[in-house]
Amino acid sequence: MRILIDADGVMVEFVSMFLTHLHYVTGRKHTVDEITDFHFETCICTPEEGNQVWARIAEQEGAVLELRPYEGVERALQLLRLDHELVCVTSPQWGTRWAEERYHWLVKHGFNKQHIVFASNKALVQGDVLIEDSPSNLESWLAAHPHGNGVLIAQPWNQKKQSEGPWLTVPSLLHYAEMLMR
Ligand SMILES: [Mg+2]
Repeated sequence: MRILIDADGVMVEFVSMFLTHLHYVTGRKHTVDEITDFHFETCICTPEEGNQVWARIAEQEGAVLELRPYEGVERALQLLRLDHELVCVTSPQWGTRWAEERYHWLVKHGFNKQHIVFASNKALVQGDVLIEDSPSNLESWLAAHPHGNGVLIAQPWNQKKQSEGPWLTVPSLLHYAEMLMR
């Protein structure tokens, strides 16, 4: 199978960095569990605070390159690559460094350039499976690829939609990779 895999919230632990910058900007300490919606401004910050955080991320060299993978991701990628073609489909964010640093992060984690696609509209990309933490990305991709399968990685910010869609919800990428091996 060709498995399309999102980066942030699936392989890459982005939100901890966001919360660190938000702490600097606002003086408030929030936890990952408080992020109960994809739109951060509805749960942990105002749009202005969010913009300040994004500006800080865009300015900081290495911010995206040094993001940590979630626990078990390296092993999951190893397992998935045994039998499948893995293509990362990731949305480029604002700032001049984001896409370049994300590219190098992905190369460091075994993706060659034939298997890296920068796309905000993931429905444009063909595959058998899409692994995402965004229910709306899954919805639009499944509408464009009705024979495809959606996999939602459970995160605090998608908890309201975990049981709602025509997708399989799993607790982690490693969980899904091990499931496919069975
Ligand atoms: Mg994501």
